[in-house]
Amino acid sequence: MAFELPQLPYSYDALEPNFDARTMEIHYSKHHAAYTSKLNDVIKGTEYENLSIEELLVKGYDIPAIRNNGGGYYNHCLFWEILSPEGGGEPEGELKDLINNSFGSFENFKNEFSNAAATRFGSGWAWLCLKDGKLEICSTPNQDNPLMPNECGGYPILGLDVWEHAYYLKYQNRRPEFIEAFFNLINWNKVQERLNN
Ligand code: MN
Repeated sequence: MAFELPQLPYSYDALEPNFDARTMEIHYSKHHAAYTSKLNDVIKGTEYENLSIEELLVKGYDIPAIRNNGGGYYNHCLFWEILSPEGGGEPEGELKDLINNSFGSFENFKNEFSNAAATRFGSGWAWLCLKDGKLEICSTPNQDNPLMPNECGGYPILGLDVWEHAYYLKYQNRRPEFIEAFFNLINWNKVQERLNN
């Protein structure tokens, strides 16, 4: 069964001025679309064809074309899902309590997450994961993610793409400004939904 590029839940320009429309268009319609089609090409007619994306990330880990394109497919699906033009602010309820219990405060969480994203050398992702009943922050290289073997582990409920293709047109080398802009777009209700899954 082929994987499908999910519909973006907002228009390309909806996340302005934090994420610019041109970057969103290229990121979604070129980068994410390419990961999706390459993943479908590489699994077609193989033993991997009918696995779920989560199963592929584990069972295809040693095959670079599956690891890279499967990770790229999954990671961007998550990324679009947890952004919103009405995002930003701080979480409420259960998620707020879990962040406070895990990091002491929202401010501490934001600082630690931002630091993980800023210091990921080269291309990769920063993650907030549920692990053993607590939240943890980590980062991974390339299109790896916490569900893969030998990565940081846990279930990712929030992810930030720090590849240059995610920010270079608007922010050039100013990755910390892009990270700050990301926090203006986080849809905490969607993050809470992932926590419930
Ligand atoms: Mn990307």
